[in-house]
Amino acid sequence: MQFKTLYGPVRSGRLGLSLGVDLLGKRICSLDCIYCEVGPTRIHTLERRAYMPARTILEELRSWKSQGLPRPEFITLGGLGEPCLNLELEEIIIGSRTIFPDIPVAVLTNSTLLHDPAVRRELAATQVILPSLDTLVPSEFIKINKPCSGVTLDNITTGLLEFRERYAGRIFLEILLARGINDSEENLARLRDFIPRLKPDRVDVVTMTRPGASPLAKAVDEQTLIAWRTALRGTTKKEGIQQPASIQGQTQDLAQDLATDAQRELVLNSLRRRPQTIDQVREALGLDPAQTRAVFADLTAQGAIQHARELGEDFFQAAP
Ligand code: SF4
Repeated sequence: MQFKTLYGPVRSGRLGLSLGVDLLGKRICSLDCIYCEVGPTRIHTLERRAYMPARTILEELRSWKSQGLPRPEFITLGGLGEPCLNLELEEIIIGSRTIFPDIPVAVLTNSTLLHDPAVRRELAATQVILPSLDTLVPSEFIKINKPCSGVTLDNITTGLLEFRERYAGRIFLEILLARGINDSEENLARLRDFIPRLKPDRVDVVTMTRPGASPLAKAVDEQTLIAWRTALRGTTKKEGIQQPASIQGQTQDLAQDLATDAQRELVLNSLRRRPQTIDQVREALGLDPAQTRAVFADLTAQGAIQHARELGEDFFQAAP
């Protein structure tokens, strides 16, 4: 079965081996971040609709399970835009937990819909949410995140704080720094005041590691990342986070049992969602190096994937 809504599993620094689920199907988002890996936003909106029907997503998850495809450590709802824009979010979360009762569900969100009580209620059934908050300086917010009409920093911070009050799961906050845009002292000072009120379980300060939507998005250097991480140390909840135990060995066995066609399909699916290096795909899918190179060579020869050198590394993505 060719999956329309599932991609990966990909190995992410924050969640381990994660099976991605696309809740949008198109580039639909309330923001248009200059660093977005999936390109410029096409539908810039706060309107919630069933952009990708829950029944399509749940059918694919059932099929993933019945085919015995690699078992992820997390099911991560996200995709080509902001997943909370999907009006059937709750059905998707409950359905995922029913199909895979022992795999936690995480949601990647840009935090712009958390001021809506319905969204906060729907997200309550997840185990982890990963909200992003790149800046608390309004002029920087406009530059880096390009919000659609109706999105304000006040709504975002109020929504995050109200969500934290009742949420029993874990919150992993992400701050992405772009050089010369939101790496200011003012932003750092505002975030240092705000984060202790939010009490996230973890804060990840990151920069671009893949090609983004705009050439204006430039990575900050390692020293800046270290300085920010040091300055924000101690702003999270005290108990910290236990990373899920790795099941890499198990995944590797499963992946090696797959037919070559299935491997090609898994790799292609993953590259349809975001550009990745050969090593990133190999590690996520648990393939051996020779298998991975063979699959990439095959897909390149067929014109199914394209290659570009960015940020000093070779990235591949599915041909349009
Ligand atoms: S919020 Fe996420 S999906 Fe939306 S534009 Fe920003 S990076 Fe892309």
